[in-house]
Amino acid sequence: MAVMENLIGRENARPAPSAGKAAEMPSLIGADREELAAMLRDRGVPERQIKMRVSQLWNWLYVRGVSDFDAMANVSKDMREMLKANFTIARPEIVEEQVSNDGTRKWLLRYPPRGAGRPVEVETVYIPEEGRGTLCISSQVGCTLTCSFCHTGTQRLVRNLTAEEILSQLLLARDRLGDFPDRDVPQGAMIPSSDRKVTNIVMMGMGEPLYNFEEVKKALLIATDGDGLSLSKRRVTLSTSGVVPEIYRTGEEIGCMLAISLHAVRDELRDMLVPINKKYPLKELMEACRAYPGLSNARRITFEYVMLKDVNDSLEDAKGLIQLLKGVPAKINLIPFNPWPGTNYQCSDWAQIEKFADFINQAGYASPIRTPRGRDILAACGQLKSESERMRKSERLAFEAMMIANHGEDD
Ligand code: SAH
Ligand code: SF4
Repeated sequence: MAVMENLIGRENARPAPSAGKAAEMPSLIGADREELAAMLRDRGVPERQIKMRVSQLWNWLYVRGVSDFDAMANVSKDMREMLKANFTIARPEIVEEQVSNDGTRKWLLRYPPRGAGRPVEVETVYIPEEGRGTLCISSQVGCTLTCSFCHTGTQRLVRNLTAEEILSQLLLARDRLGDFPDRDVPQGAMIPSSDRKVTNIVMMGMGEPLYNFEEVKKALLIATDGDGLSLSKRRVTLSTSGVVPEIYRTGEEIGCMLAISLHAVRDELRDMLVPINKKYPLKELMEACRAYPGLSNARRITFEYVMLKDVNDSLEDAKGLIQLLKGVPAKINLIPFNPWPGTNYQCSDWAQIEKFADFINQAGYASPIRTPRGRDILAACGQLKSESERMRKSERLAFEAMMIANHGEDD
């Protein structure tokens, strides 16, 4: 078994550089250019300077990745003082950071309550693989939906994350991975995309991203902005349980890649597994998929399918799956079910998963089973840490496999 290293533990949690007062101030992170301009205007920055100041800030925040106003070398001292007095660009507090010896990293981050009563915690996980590195990002604390096989679904929604909080998961990961240029590199220099540590992001953490559409959209548009973080939209994947109206909006307004948590090919069964199916049944879901803009063999929708013993794992189901996906440029991702305390489901037998996968392979879809890695840390993105801590070790290991199982997507 791999050896886990705890770089930052709960006992010596690292507060954000200017936590406390800064947490009360509006953050510049997550604001789009118009909002940044309005914030500066409000603080008396002359109109003729606004455009230049916004682009300076954008470069410092998203190309250089600074989290301290004093690092903004080409911004005058007066301006920096004004920014410090009114705004924050601090990162969230790191409660815990764990590194697996296979390189998988997990951060437990803490954010202010913002109406939730007490501070909230979310997990962000980084999975390095040959030729790419994927960051799994959360969009909500908890989830309003109640998919019957999902642990997050047994927990109530605590609150939506803001665009700042969603984006700061990416900024913090890049800080910790050394994925921003050093301070002494000339202004404007970027790390070439071929050397980046975080090459892909997946909205597959905690929560249903399309129930927090506006904030997720803002964060992803900044993450893919060509003058800033500049992730390609082909390397950003949003996973949804099937919020049909927002799938259309995702295609039109975000333009990232799409993953659908399908899990069943008949309405009757999907109503039970993924109850949002009662509102948006398979026919409507598949129509939205077919209409997704820009699909081709190189840009396919990922269909996630959790393998539940004697529930959805028969060859009839496999046949139904192929039929359902006919005509849609699709990838299939078979996820061995990860059990959790209190669940009535079991993972399909391995032999059955292989039979199911073979059938799918023969229909022309390549090796769809996701093999777990990094078993030494609980990297179960989408599972509340507070809950996971109460689990026994065996349960934690099983759990961890779930998140990992979801992150081997192609570019
Ligand atoms: N809410 C979004 C994003 C979460 S992505 C969505 O549902 O798509 C996490 C993926 O893991 C989803 O496909 C989800 O259905 C799946 N999942 C949830 N619980 C699981 C479990 N216990 N074992 C395996 N996969 C699970
Ligand atoms: Fe929510 Fe996704 Fe879990 Fe369903 S699978 S309960 S949508 S997090």
